[in-house]
Amino acid sequence: MPVDRSTPDAVLRALAVRPLLFDGAMGTTLNDFDDRDWEAPEEVTLRFPDRMAGVYRAYVEAGADVISTNTFGGNLIRLERAGLLDKAEAINRGAAAQARAAAGDDAWVAGDIGQSGDFLQPLGDVTEARMAEAFRVQAHHLAAGGADLLLCETFSDVREVQIAIEAARSTGLPVFATMTYDINLHTMMGVAPADGLRACESAGAAAVGCNCGNGPEEMAQVLDQMLAAGPARPLMAQSNAGVPELVDGKVRYLYPDEKMVEFARQWIARGVSVIGSCCGSTAATTRRLRAMLDQTTPPAPTL
Ligand SMILES: [Zn+2]
Repeated sequence: MPVDRSTPDAVLRALAVRPLLFDGAMGTTLNDFDDRDWEAPEEVTLRFPDRMAGVYRAYVEAGADVISTNTFGGNLIRLERAGLLDKAEAINRGAAAQARAAAGDDAWVAGDIGQSGDFLQPLGDVTEARMAEAFRVQAHHLAAGGADLLLCETFSDVREVQIAIEAARSTGLPVFATMTYDINLHTMMGVAPADGLRACESAGAAAVGCNCGNGPEEMAQVLDQMLAAGPARPLMAQSNAGVPELVDGKVRYLYPDEKMVEFARQWIARGVSVIGSCCGSTAATTRRLRAMLDQTTPPAPTL
């Protein structure tokens, strides 16, 4: 069934009546290419557009409702560090256009915005104004390329994620936001799940939750805390496929898709309404999640 792209809030209207399925990993998918010779994953957008089209198309064909652009490191702060600042438009607008072309009428495109990788003052050198500009420029390039919504993900600092959400909202597109609770059920910056939830909600995110981390067992505990806090927006969960292991010198995620799906099934039953997966997952994971969602009657939406 073609997705409704008639207005910017069409994806939110769909979310009001059924769970949404996001795609799986981008970074670990690109790392698995044997001829990898790039430093920043965003370079693949510029150098191998056909390959990117294949990655996007695989997730669409697996049944994702929403695919994410290869722009996790596309904010100006990260691009400057990678020596790619002059490519900001080509990387962000280009990735959104590639994803949009691959998605066609079959999926929405989420412009992906990752954390800056730097620290705000006084911990670091970055001013709030500089941080806001870094995300705002990225967000507007993503919107210009055809993104239907924006996804701020893997954040660990409350003020930074709020700045990113506000910058993304300046495009007029819906903004989903997730933080990563990978240190004793807190973010790297010590934020607890309920506090991250509230911070993202108050900045105006349309769906809020958690991504990446140490696998579904821990994410289940993070979601317990978010559910106990009483979320005011649809909850989102994109778990890593367990924790990586070194096998013959290569980083591998060996967590079975069956268990990923079983956790997701439980989360849907408890009211989580946006599901996807993160590092180590593949289009095969997305396909199984799609089958589960198609066989599952979710609880009636309460928000
Ligand atoms: Zn991840």
